[in-house]
Amino acid sequence: MITIVGGGIFGLSIGWYLARAGRSVTLLERGKVGQGTTQASAGMVMPWKISASFNADLFELQRASCDRWSDFAAELNAKSDKPFEFRAIGRYFLMLDKKALKRVGKQYEFHRQIGFSLDWLSGDELREREPHASPEIQAAVFSPLSCQVDNQGLIEALRQAFLGAGGILREETSVLELLTNGNQVQGVRLEGETVPTKTVILTTGVWLDQLAGVPSMLHNIIQPIKGQILTLQMSETEPLIKRQMIGPIYLVPRHNGRLIVGTTIEEAGFNIQPTAGGMYHILRKAQLILPSIIDLPILEIRVGLRPTGPNRLPVMGKTDVDGLFFASGGHSHGVLLSPIVAEAMTELVMTGTPPPIISPFAIKEK
Ligand SMILES: Cc1cc2nc3c(=O)[nH]c(=O)nc-3n(C[C@H](O)[C@H](O)[C@H](O)COP(=O)(O)OP(=O)(O)OC[C@H]3O[C@@H](n4cnc5c(N)ncnc54)[C@H](O)[C@@H]3O)c2cc1C
Repeated sequence: MITIVGGGIFGLSIGWYLARAGRSVTLLERGKVGQGTTQASAGMVMPWKISASFNADLFELQRASCDRWSDFAAELNAKSDKPFEFRAIGRYFLMLDKKALKRVGKQYEFHRQIGFSLDWLSGDELREREPHASPEIQAAVFSPLSCQVDNQGLIEALRQAFLGAGGILREETSVLELLTNGNQVQGVRLEGETVPTKTVILTTGVWLDQLAGVPSMLHNIIQPIKGQILTLQMSETEPLIKRQMIGPIYLVPRHNGRLIVGTTIEEAGFNIQPTAGGMYHILRKAQLILPSIIDLPILEIRVGLRPTGPNRLPVMGKTDVDGLFFASGGHSHGVLLSPIVAEAMTELVMTGTPPPIISPFAIKEK
C-alpha cells in the first residue's frame, strides 16, 4: 500500500495517477483536500522564462507540464460530475515604463526564437482589443498560449477522479509522525492509530518541518512565501477585460465575470492573515493597469503559502530512506507543474528510477 501525506494539488494528482495505474493508495489530509496553498492559486498555466538567469531545467519542466495540461483537464472533466473551467485564454505582458519595455523586450525575443507564437502590440493596439486598459500602458506582448484553470473546480474533479480510480481518502486526518527503522519506512502515526505502510509520499507543502520523524535530508528545505490574492466581480456579459494581463500585478478573468487579482510575495512565516498593506499593494498596482477596477465589488480575499525550495526550485524524488518519496517546491507554478509531477513521481514510485525530467530537482544529501 502507498500512503500519501497531504492532499494539495501535488498529493491529489500523484494519488490519482498511482490509483489509475492500479496501485492501492491512501491519501491522508489533515483538513479538506485543497485547503492548503492550492485554494489560493490564480490558476494560470503557462511556461515563461522570466529572466536570463531563470533556471533552464525548470523552464523545460514547465513546458513539458503545459503540453500535458489539455489532456489532463479533459480526462478529469470527463470523470467529474462538476466540470471545471480550463481554457486557453491568452495573456498580455504589459509594459508601463522603460524598464518594463527592456525586460519584456528581451523575453519577447527569447520566446519567439524558441517558437512561441507572440504578437507585439502598441499601447493603442492593446486598447483596441481591451478598451478599459490604462492609457499609460506603452506596449504589450500577447501570447495565445496561456491557459487558466479554475483551481476550486480542479480540486473537486481531482478528488472525484482519485476516488473513482479506487483511491482511499481520509480527510480531517493529521499525520503526526513518519515511522521508519532508519533505513526503511514502516508506517505513519495518527492520533490514536498507526498505519503500517512500506511506501510514503510526502506532499505536505510548507508544513513538512512540522511532521516528526522526517529524515534530516528533508529538514528546512521548504520555506513558506506568502501570497495574498483578491477576487472581484465584473459584469458577466461585459467584463472589463477578456484576457489575462500581467504587469506590475496580474489580472485573471474567469468565465463567470470573476476577476482574480494578485499578488503579494512576502516572507511572513506561517502567517495567513490578509492585510491592509497587502490589499493596498495589489489594488494600487492593479489600478495602473485597469483604472476602473476600483469600482468593482470585492468577493473574497485568499491567502496561500507557496512551498518554496532552495533557489525557488521544485524538490522531488527519492530520499535516503527506502520507500520514502517527496514532492514539493511548486512555489508560484505548482498548479502548472501538477501533470508532469504526477506522471514523473508515478514512474519513480513504480519503477524506482526517476525520469530524466525531474532528475535536476532531486533531493540533495546534507
Ligand atoms: C497567491 C498565489 C497564487 C498562485 N498562483 C498560481 C498560478 O497562477 N499558477 C500556478 O501554477 N501556481 C500558482 N500558485 C502556486 C500553487 O498554488 C502552489 O505551488 C501549489 O498549490 C502547492 O501545492 P502543494 O500540493 O504542494 O501544497 P498544498 O496545496 O499546500 O498542499 C499540502 C497539503 O498537505 C496537508 N498537510 C500538511 N501537513 C500534513 C500532515 N502532517 N498530515 C496531513 N496533511 C498534511 C495540508 O493541509 C495541505 O492540504 C499560487 C500560489 C499563491 C499563494
